Amino acid sequence: MQINMDVDGVVADTIPYLFSLLKSEGLFDLKPIDDPHWRTWDVLGNLSPQAKKATLDYWANEQFWLNLPVVPFAQEKIDLMRIAGHHINWITAPWKSCRSWFEARREWLHKHFKHPDQDLEKDYHATGNKTPVWADVYIDDKPASVEAWREKWCNPYIKYERAFLFETNFNHNEQKDFSSFDWNNVPEFLVTPNG
Ligand SMILES: [Mg+2]
Repeated sequence: MQINMDVDGVVADTIPYLFSLLKSEGLFDLKPIDDPHWRTWDVLGNLSPQAKKATLDYWANEQFWLNLPVVPFAQEKIDLMRIAGHHINWITAPWKSCRSWFEARREWLHKHFKHPDQDLEKDYHATGNKTPVWADVYIDDKPASVEAWREKWCNPYIKYERAFLFETNFNHNEQKDFSSFDWNNVPEFLVTPNG
């Protein structure tokens, strides 16, 4: 199967890494994530002006994107998906203020998810609009993106789940009716040959 895989929040530990950098500079001043005022998809809106400026500076620098840690167990589970015969397409939204973002992200994917069948000329798509890209299975941590993809590609009358929300600390209050999982709980059919 063709699997369209988001990168930030699913295989790259982007927000926790940002928080660790802010903490190291004494700038971490976010509201607790269980605060009802937490705006999950507006990290910048949750920060003080000083922390926001530091964040924009990090994000404009390719070192941030090159140094991102991998989400725990993502490599092992992606390996299992590949062994099961599935093909990973990376669908990721660019950060435009970083001029070398595209190359940095490609280098990061090559470093952490290299595979003989992976051709990053073909399998790496940098786009903010992920909905038009067909796949058998779609995986993303942003509820709105999963919803939009599901709307376009899934037949509501067929109970074959294809659009998955990847569960994180930052979307747990938005999981609604999505099919969802994290790397500790991957659906069998994604890691089983002929599943
Ligand atoms: Mg994401």
